[in-house]
Amino acid sequence: MRALALALMMVVTTIAPCSAQGHDGDNPISWIEKEKVRAAYHYANPPAAERVALLKRAGMNSMILKASVEKALPWLREAKKQGMRCFLALNFNVNAEEEGLRQAVLADGRVERYACPLDDRFWRDHLTPAIMERVALSGDPDLQVDGLWIDFELYSTVTGQRYYNNACYCDHCFGEFCKHKGIQTPKLGYAERAPWLKEQGYAEEYQPYLGERMEALATELREKIHAVNPNFLLGFYPTPHNWSLMAVARGFSTERVPILLWATDTYGGGGPARVPDDWRQEYADQGINARYLAGMLLRSYSAKNLAANIYQTTDKCDGYWLFTTYTLWTPPREKPGDYYLAAGEPEDYWDAITLANSEIDKRLQQGEGYETDLTIGPEPVVYRPLTQPDKRKQLHALVAPEITGEVVEYPKVKLRGSNMMVVACRAGQPVEIALGFQQVGKGADAISWELIAPNRMHVLSGHGEQQHETAISFTPQQDGIYFLLVTAGGSCYYPLRSNAPLGLYAGARLHTMHGAARLYFKVPDGLGEFTILGEGSSGHEPIRVDVYNPDGEMVATGQSNQEETEALITVPVGEHAGETWSLAITKADVEIFEDTYITLPPPLPPVLSLVPEQVFDVRTDL
Ligand SMILES: [Zn+2]
Repeated sequence: MRALALALMMVVTTIAPCSAQGHDGDNPISWIEKEKVRAAYHYANPPAAERVALLKRAGMNSMILKASVEKALPWLREAKKQGMRCFLALNFNVNAEEEGLRQAVLADGRVERYACPLDDRFWRDHLTPAIMERVALSGDPDLQVDGLWIDFELYSTVTGQRYYNNACYCDHCFGEFCKHKGIQTPKLGYAERAPWLKEQGYAEEYQPYLGERMEALATELREKIHAVNPNFLLGFYPTPHNWSLMAVARGFSTERVPILLWATDTYGGGGPARVPDDWRQEYADQGINARYLAGMLLRSYSAKNLAANIYQTTDKCDGYWLFTTYTLWTPPREKPGDYYLAAGEPEDYWDAITLANSEIDKRLQQGEGYETDLTIGPEPVVYRPLTQPDKRKQLHALVAPEITGEVVEYPKVKLRGSNMMVVACRAGQPVEIALGFQQVGKGADAISWELIAPNRMHVLSGHGEQQHETAISFTPQQDGIYFLLVTAGGSCYYPLRSNAPLGLYAGARLHTMHGAARLYFKVPDGLGEFTILGEGSSGHEPIRVDVYNPDGEMVATGQSNQEETEALITVPVGEHAGETWSLAITKADVEIFEDTYITLPPPLPPVLSLVPEQVFDVRTDL
């Protein structure tokens, strides 16, 4: 493999250095300084010619192609013809167990499936050839390849630890550190090494030492790359946030060729507020020559605010990238996974992207003095289940608990994304609901809400102040169940108190963060068994659901895992039909426990209540 890589290098060096399109003499990023990066991430699905033209028309200037080299080729060719920049996406992760490479060991002694960060064979025999194959393409005069978009997330995890935050304590890393300190390597089990280093007073030195070694491996690789194409741009996903990512970013950047940070601070919403103000200084202090490109998920930014978010975010850095224009080219699916839009149709998104780019152009031409009209307004609440006939029919059959007018304080259950609450109302009896707010990440999100009457005519909508509790009050015009739709951008919210019975709608995925100690639901009369569906937000972020009978005994439990993100829990009812049951959403066997979803499929009433006195039932005679 190594010989092959060398042979490729020799062939390519003869044609490479100056053939890449548009390189401005000695400065490989002069185009970024002139235009800023406006990149579309996608999977290189055909037709390339039409889609490159479409991106160009929308004012985009770059693509990140997540595809095999073979699949990317038509796009690289088309990009060359139409004048578009290209970055090839590549995973740093490898399944070391399968490839027979040295596996990383975590501080607690667990062995990971991904590679030890200092495994020479991983760097030289695995990563290097994959990268050099792509670098070689940058020398082909018919292809446009400007650099790489390297994904540093460690997907082959068994523990859920997706980065080297608590690594690596393998024999090699531990042994090398001891050698470096001039001490005999003690015979210790994996789990005993981190505590021993701490005891010896080496805890602070250990990872920085590994970082130096990792930086050297990254530097060696970068030198090979720049020997072939001195202008080749290395890029980094996500925002570097630990010792190993900082080390590689340092090794990959030089004074002449910066590293492109395909950053993720702005991923889940928040836009300009989430670009660190001091990022230039922060990376310079770390010895990293960086350019910052803000990533945005189209599923986190509504079309309404996208243009303003792109414009203002880009104003604080060197450009932006969108995950993913694939969603704009693909019809929505039943189970969309990563691929849906926050709010708006694909045409609205294209309009927003086009507008943002034209405003960026004006800003670049007119400089500091340019003032845009684009402003970021509150995010619209989007909640789709209410538009589905079967879900509406089920809601129509809900039977409300007793309405006493008493104010009930609720235990804290954090909700995230768009969710719906059901509120039992009586005509003329004023309702007061308070929602708590918890910011997730940087920025200043706020609660947005919309109230819909039982006849589904819109009633009221409003926005909370940024980062504050929100009070919602109204006087219902009719008896029945009102629907309260709520979102808070990428942040969390939760019912604090209400003077009308309130439940969390779970007929479609109820999105919670950090679980729930207890949620209550009614099991209808005559039911022999029921099923509950728990879903992790990914294989690495699983869910556990424990189900309790009316006597408070745990009678069933289930969890999702890396292979199966759904946990279907079927529970025999026994003699407890017609009573109030409960469930807990808790941490599964792996470390990460954040975003999870829970659904109560029919025939259960589609509502989870925060207190047992407020469970909702269903009529079965409809
Ligand atoms: Zn190691």
